[in-house]
Amino acid sequence: MSEDGLPDDATAAERKMRFLFALRSRGVTDGRVLTAMERVDRGQFVRGLFAERAYEDMPLPIACGQTISQPSVVGLMTQALNVQPRDTVLEVGTGSGYQAAILSLLARRVYTVDRHRRLVKEAGDLFRSMGLVNIVAMTADGSFGLPDQAPFDRILVTAAAEDPPGPLLAQLKIGGIMVLPVGQSDAVQSLIKVTRLTTGYEYEELRPVRFVPLVEGLGNE
Ligand code: SAH
Repeated sequence: MSEDGLPDDATAAERKMRFLFALRSRGVTDGRVLTAMERVDRGQFVRGLFAERAYEDMPLPIACGQTISQPSVVGLMTQALNVQPRDTVLEVGTGSGYQAAILSLLARRVYTVDRHRRLVKEAGDLFRSMGLVNIVAMTADGSFGLPDQAPFDRILVTAAAEDPPGPLLAQLKIGGIMVLPVGQSDAVQSLIKVTRLTTGYEYEELRPVRFVPLVEGLGNE
């Protein structure tokens, strides 16, 4: 039994329904994305003081002074990325690992990188315990992408750069899509969708967002 006197499984089901309702009401309507988000328990990716708020539609603090993004923003970014079952995806900014876990249910393989060794280790342990065997988590400065694994069908950046990093544009397949926040770290940023065409790149501005900055080099944790 939980504090409110309801059996734990009833509150869990109700919590999940509210979580999915919030996603839908904020524009996450793609069935595959909703199913993936229903299957990945955000509660596993938030630790300590904030764990009880894991099912609310808000960003929360994680280790290394970083944040796990707001679920509706995760949903909208995943939806814009339009991941296909055979895709190889690169995520820059592993953070808690939540976004990578969702991508792993939609793609063939997910590479996720973070500049903080500790976040990569903790996320990697979670992926293993959840049986998400198609995610490769690595410590790296993601602004250079992963040249050895490139090109990618999809690239998702979850930290804001002033402009789309050149190496990431270069590592996108023709026909591929990259979704990323761009803008100054202390101002409102724009979520951008970049599609690589045979002749160049097409840019579409999706919505205002706020992300932690994409920082050069590796972190000290
Ligand atoms: N996608 C994450 C949230 C990411 S927060 C989740 O689902 O929880 C942004 C992350 O980007 C932080 O963990 C930060 O360490 C990382 N980051 C910032 N600059 C980076 C860089 N140059 N290379 C790789 N990771 C970077």
